[in-house]
Amino acid sequence: MILKEVSVERFAFTCQGCWHEWQADYDLQHVEDSYGHAKDYFFRDGVRCTDPTGAGVTLCPQCGRSTVSARLTHRRATPVVPAAEASNPDSGERPTAAQTAARARVPILPAEKLDTGTPHTSGE
Ligand SMILES: [Zn+2]
Repeated sequence: MILKEVSVERFAFTCQGCWHEWQADYDLQHVEDSYGHAKDYFFRDGVRCTDPTGAGVTLCPQCGRSTVSARLTHRRATPVVPAAEASNPDSGERPTAAQTAARARVPILPAEKLDTGTPHTSGE
């Protein structure tokens, strides 16, 4: 497998039952297998998951229905370092022990802090 691209992709979801709307960010790895076929791997909060746009995959957080429409609204790709450059010992930045330790300490950047939907229920 060859890693072709790493990206963050934001999806907007709309429940077809209660019309609740929300957004969530996913981390994706776009790879190419040994036959040249493209494959996508999805992660949310660092945990592998299935494609959130798949039928019945995403549940409405308000009513629990699985009839949810999903739409890709934003994406940001991180370039992948070419193999030739990655194998060059003089390229790249060498992380200090303090940087590595700091990365292990900080909490994960949550994938779902973007609830822009207005609940369509009474109250509040
Ligand atoms: Zn709903």
